[in-house]
Amino acid sequence: MSLANKLALERRGRLAAERLLELKQAELSAANRKLGRHAAALQGEIVETRAEVANVKTENERVKTELGQANQKVEIAERRLWHSVQTITDGFAFFNSDNRMIAANSSYLAIFDKLEIIRPGVHYVTILQVLTDEGIVNTGKLAAQDWREMMTDRWMQPQPEPITIRLWNGQYIKLVDRRGQGGDIVSLGLNITESVEYEKQLKTARAEAEAASRAKSAFLANMSHEIRTPMNGVVGMAELLGDTALTEEQRLYVDTIKNSGEALLVIINDVLDYSKIEAKKLQLHPEPFDLERCIHEVIMLLQPSARDKGLTLLVDYDLFLPTVYVGDPGRVRQVLTNLMGNAVKFTSEGHVLVRVTGVPDIESGQATVNIAIEDTGIGIPEDKIQHIFGEFNQVENERNRQFDGTGLGLAISQRLVELMQGEMWVTSEDGVGSCFGFKIPLELGNAELPAHPPVPAGLRRVLVVDDVEANRTILRRQLEQIGMGVVTCASGAEALKKLDNIDLVLTDHNMPGMDGLELAEAIRNEGCETPIILLSSNTSFAANDPGASHLHAILQKPLPRADLFKQLQSVGPLITRKEEPEPPKVRKMRVLAAEDNKTNQLVFRKMVKDADIDLKFAANGIEAVELFQSFVPDMIFMDISMPKMDGKEATMKIREIEEGSGGHIPIVALTAHAMDGDDQGILASGIDHYLTKPLRKPEIHGMLRDLCPPDAPPPLPDDDDAALQAG
Ligand code: ADP
Repeated sequence: MSLANKLALERRGRLAAERLLELKQAELSAANRKLGRHAAALQGEIVETRAEVANVKTENERVKTELGQANQKVEIAERRLWHSVQTITDGFAFFNSDNRMIAANSSYLAIFDKLEIIRPGVHYVTILQVLTDEGIVNTGKLAAQDWREMMTDRWMQPQPEPITIRLWNGQYIKLVDRRGQGGDIVSLGLNITESVEYEKQLKTARAEAEAASRAKSAFLANMSHEIRTPMNGVVGMAELLGDTALTEEQRLYVDTIKNSGEALLVIINDVLDYSKIEAKKLQLHPEPFDLERCIHEVIMLLQPSARDKGLTLLVDYDLFLPTVYVGDPGRVRQVLTNLMGNAVKFTSEGHVLVRVTGVPDIESGQATVNIAIEDTGIGIPEDKIQHIFGEFNQVENERNRQFDGTGLGLAISQRLVELMQGEMWVTSEDGVGSCFGFKIPLELGNAELPAHPPVPAGLRRVLVVDDVEANRTILRRQLEQIGMGVVTCASGAEALKKLDNIDLVLTDHNMPGMDGLELAEAIRNEGCETPIILLSSNTSFAANDPGASHLHAILQKPLPRADLFKQLQSVGPLITRKEEPEPPKVRKMRVLAAEDNKTNQLVFRKMVKDADIDLKFAANGIEAVELFQSFVPDMIFMDISMPKMDGKEATMKIREIEEGSGGHIPIVALTAHAMDGDDQGILASGIDHYLTKPLRKPEIHGMLRDLCPPDAPPPLPDDDDAALQAG
């Protein structure tokens, strides 16, 4: 090869090497730049991380300090708590769910007299063992083993009942243990020795006081009894002496002895009764008795003094309440005599009314009987009302002082009523009158409600003559109850105008203007032979009057229903009824009443008893639909809520039937309460009218009048309810 070629080759090699070098240099500087950038980025990151680390460090410091503080607080709280637990004088311990002691205060441990074994970690059963083994606890009648078993059983309960244990030294500890969350138990041992001792002392003191009080009452009872015997002699002899020939002066002395003796006897009897009750020596002697009769017997006793004052005595005995009960008639009579006697004593004009109500429960054979005695007397100032039930307490004021008495009557009555498991109350208005009431549970004497006595033969319409409205009302109700028609009037003159079609005249004796005896005379003078019964509060006086010859009977008033009915039966045969032409045979208005409730049926029946209708009851909707077809009523009273089929459904069924057969029977719904918005639903079922309960007689009568068909006679006279409301 030529030199030139060699040179050219070498030049080319050098150029290529130079280019490669340049290339590598460029790559190197690019890599360098990249590295520089990366280093810069790293540098930034390092700075950031450093800052973060610094932050975390401060945060850590803060948490550490706070934790330290919190720990300190917890320690302080724990120390304080433990200090408190230590200072309380009652025993206090915690147990874990394995029944091992976690901690206990010194009072708790003190009982164990520093026994090593009783310390945290000890099992509850071991504690019980130590208590018995060391004789720390007095297990009483229980053997140690049984006591421990009983205590262990108790401890295992989810919430053990507190229990009081007795220690060897006579101290009483009440253990109250509470299980907390996680099964821990907090156990408290309260030292109740003092209160137990105190309670014991109280019991003894009370027993002593009661014994003393009983001894005092027994002494009083004995003494009263001892005084009563000779006093009876004094009064009896004074009475005999009074029947002998005496000068006027001597008679005055004898009467005074007798009256004072009698007054003393009343006081002694009261004291005797009161002491007996207090000494718990008074026992009730239950036997069957007639309560209504009992009330009338008391009335008979009080009648003379009531008559002297011109007072009317009235009895309103619930028509549906039985009269025969099992109770202590003597004590019931005593309470009645007291309350009714007071009512007469503290009333100078007006009336005394005894009202007896109650609801018998045939199933249990019991009735709670309410008896209220209402008077129009002097009343009792409000602030004295409680006071008068205390023994020997009376209202101390001018008006009251004119009446004598011991002030024991109410105290005795109240205690007697309480003895009969009852209660007594009073409402009163000063100067207006009082009402003393009591209620007692009584066993029914005969399990049935009083049967309605048969309507006396031939007796249809009775004329009741009495100037006192309350009396007229009571008699009217009693007579209507047995199905008689009653015409009432307030005077003899009025009675004379109402004698047509009357089978019996029942007249009061004492009336302003013409009295009952004069009325009897006048009735006979008119040529009327209707039997007349006189109701008098003074029968013997009436019997001696010439007018008495016109009377069928003279009855003491007020009189028990049973007696009244008996007398009515005896009148029946006397009645010579003029042969009346048979009334034309027209059919009566037929009324169907759908009502499931027996009481409501009774109420309904009572409300329409004056109406001349043919009445049938359906006990549910199904029966109503059946009777609609078989009985063909002129109208239906339909209760809405009934079992089996309700009133709405029954009405719809009836309307369906009518669609086939034609016609439209008036249906009156009876709803339990005012219908709020439901009336649309009710009317939509095809009901024409509705009445809301409680049923009101004028409304029912109104419906009967309005819906009576033309071919039946009007069921009621037009003025019936107007007259009723006016009278
Ligand atoms: P007594 O009638 O013997 O005084 P009670 O214990 O029966 O004793 O009655 C206590 C008092 O209650 C009577 O004194 C009287 O002040 C008052 N009191 C009782 N009943 C009535 C009454 N019906 N009207 C007014 N006050 C009465």
